[in-house]
Amino acid sequence: LVQLSMPLNFMGMIYREIKQALIDIDDMFQILHRNPEIADRPGAKPLAVSDGVVRFEDVRFAYDPARPILRGVSFEVPAGRTIAIVGPSGAGKSTLSRLLFRFYEPQSGRILIDGQDIAGVEQGSLRAAIGMVPQDTVLFNDTIGYNIRYGQWDASDEAVREAARLAQIDRFVSSLPEGYDTPVGERGLKLSGGEKQRVAIARTILKGPPILVLDEATSALDSFTEREIQDALDKVSRGRTTLVIAHRLSTVVNADEIIVLDRGVIVERGDHQSLLDLGGVYASLWSRQREADEAREILKRAEERR
Ligand code: ADP
Ligand code: MG
Repeated sequence: LVQLSMPLNFMGMIYREIKQALIDIDDMFQILHRNPEIADRPGAKPLAVSDGVVRFEDVRFAYDPARPILRGVSFEVPAGRTIAIVGPSGAGKSTLSRLLFRFYEPQSGRILIDGQDIAGVEQGSLRAAIGMVPQDTVLFNDTIGYNIRYGQWDASDEAVREAARLAQIDRFVSSLPEGYDTPVGERGLKLSGGEKQRVAIARTILKGPPILVLDEATSALDSFTEREIQDALDKVSRGRTTLVIAHRLSTVVNADEIIVLDRGVIVERGDHQSLLDLGGVYASLWSRQREADEAREILKRAEERR
């Protein structure tokens, strides 16, 4: 019983924490990756975002000192540009986004936003500047409207709808009898993964942060939903500095630079065409994905014929 109740207590604790609707969806991510060692340093100043240039300088990081995860990663996302990070699972891609949010700190190296080391800025100001669309969105047990508006309490109904429109979820919401007042979550309407992600995108559009981090879902969304989400993400990232952990070929093709991360080091970088020409890791990832996509297409057509 002791063995069983320990994890249950822990779950209960997490659950209660999540239930306190005082927290932001970004903060929910923080709870899941809570690290009490990370606090504002004495004399921390608010981050002043001008252009929104994000720079990783020789960043080294390990969750457990015996197992290095990032082994000297350097790159820059110029203002308003999109950088895609690709690579095998476990390469350290999501870890980069956790460091940018300062859920953890690098063991060495620096992360700068417009020249300011994020280690020395106020957490609140850092997180206000970054919009995160995580891989798995957790919604509050409240209405759809509440979930979109979260943190932007003074946003008008019209602004909420406009954000939902850009995120390609407005039509769906409007078709519900209760519209934006529809309860979602455990005791409400169950949304699909794609719908939840679009709610998160709408919320990010409403927040309008200068810097975006998109950890794209790997889950098998149908290709129609995938295209809709892609369109929504393209709209949000236009003119914003965007770091996208990309699984979809379409994002990768259009990115200003593609960084291939493997076991914590950058093994290749460049645009889509130059990486294809290189004929290395990226080229083989690309051809494997293409084959998988083609196989899926063939299966789908076979099903449609039945
Ligand atoms: P990716 O997003 O590229 O799939 P991650 O950045 O999530 O990879 O993880 C990189 C490595 O770090 C993985 O081996 C993973 O198991 C490990 N890892 C991730 N989070 C933690 C954690 N909180 N504690 C210990 N190890 C972790
Ligand atoms: Mg990941």
